[in-house]
Amino acid sequence: MSSAVPHVLVIGGGIGGLCLAQGLKRAGIGVEVHERDRSRTDRLEGYRIHIDPDGAKALHACLPPEVWETFLGRTVDLGSFRFLTENLDELVVLDERARGAGAAGPLDRSHAIDRVTLRDLLLTGLDDVVRFGKKFERYERTEDGRITAFFSDGTTATGDVLVGADGVNSPVRRQYLPQARRVDTDAVGVGFKLPLTAEVRSWLTPPLSTGRSMIMAPVPYFLSISVFDRGESADVPPGAEYENYVGSAFVARRDACPPDLDDLDGPGLQRLVSRLIDGWHPHLRRLVADSDPGSVLLVPYRTSVPLEPWESTNITLLGDAVHSMSPVGGLGGNTALRDADLLCQALVAVCDEGTPVPAAIREYETGMREYGFAAVRKALRYQQQGLRSSRVAMAATKVFFRTMNSLMQRRRRDAERLAGVG
Ligand SMILES: Cc1cc2nc3c(=O)[nH]c(=O)nc-3n(C[C@H](O)[C@H](O)[C@H](O)COP(=O)(O)OP(=O)(O)OC[C@H]3O[C@@H](n4cnc5c(N)ncnc54)[C@H](O)[C@@H]3O)c2cc1C
Repeated sequence: MSSAVPHVLVIGGGIGGLCLAQGLKRAGIGVEVHERDRSRTDRLEGYRIHIDPDGAKALHACLPPEVWETFLGRTVDLGSFRFLTENLDELVVLDERARGAGAAGPLDRSHAIDRVTLRDLLLTGLDDVVRFGKKFERYERTEDGRITAFFSDGTTATGDVLVGADGVNSPVRRQYLPQARRVDTDAVGVGFKLPLTAEVRSWLTPPLSTGRSMIMAPVPYFLSISVFDRGESADVPPGAEYENYVGSAFVARRDACPPDLDDLDGPGLQRLVSRLIDGWHPHLRRLVADSDPGSVLLVPYRTSVPLEPWESTNITLLGDAVHSMSPVGGLGGNTALRDADLLCQALVAVCDEGTPVPAAIREYETGMREYGFAAVRKALRYQQQGLRSSRVAMAATKVFFRTMNSLMQRRRRDAERLAGVG
């Protein structure tokens, strides 16, 4: 490694910031993460997160091998992903096997993990790196071109590179790229959790009792359901919500909801969704009605607007701070992880190959803008497809799914034949 090892300040200890810190630490690059939360268990979001192959590859590249192994031990099999009608008629089923017989390795498949558990894993070994209770307010460039970050407690930190990994309302982005915009989409989401008790298991039968299901109907809303069933697990990190549960997200066009939507509390939101899905299959209605009212969460779906390239410097952004997107499709966290890996590689090139910092960051930003804003567009497209409400659009969707289904079946048969299975 050359002597020009940059010292990196990361603002925000979320999924992307911590993954970057892990990778930099592993590469021997000095890094500090400044996180506004007061402690590692301050902000607990007990929801499952879906890590796709992009996210898995980034975690594998950045985490120490033993933490990666622990990650694999804590994940839950995602099972198949099916599209169903509101009467539970099958439209299409996608599963890992359909992706080909060789695609079973942990880097090529998707994983589900509790967000609290993931955050805990990402914090492993970073006690000397993460500073909690550091709310970033602004930065200044020093005379020698370094960056000083100012925090709300009156303290400062100075480094060679500043990374804004500070999420959707990123103050780093606001100062560095004031032209960046986030706008409302026409959708809102209501999240629910139903603990998977013995009683629930007795009535929640296939196809809803495993994997993930997307319920589509000719109405301007849809329901996404994920079963998070880890079986018995020891070694629970503090604060993690470890019960098995069914997580549901009801996604609706705002104009299909009453004007006082934002004022509704948990039970009020539950009643509203129950009313909107009145007439759907009884198990779907029960999933919503029996969910824990305390778990109900209303999330307005917003999205970033793709940005024109800007001149690269020693300040950059990653994850939601630069390309926040609709949660539909579960792409945001995975894209943040991919950014962390790519930025880590760019900063390693500064040390190993003597690449100037702005050139390394340009390399990172060029790639990140391309796949990051492609993910933003994809998430919006998924959202719009789910919210198609006319019977004609739904009929077209069914034809599309049937075609896809037969293609998938053919691919699976080919893959199994190749692998000598069937
Ligand atoms: C309901 C829901 C479900 C989702 N499911 C999935 C999924 O299954 N798969 C997926 O890939 N994505 C999913 N996402 C999206 C995913 O959660 C985000 O895209 C991801 O967390 C972005 O990571 P990040 O590191 O950029 O930001 P974050 O994880 O939001 O981290 C930002 C960090 O910055 C800190 N911070 C903010 N301001 C300051 C400040 N001023 N000073 C210091 N620190 C600050 C915050 O406290 C936080 O810790 C989901 C989102 C929602 C809302």
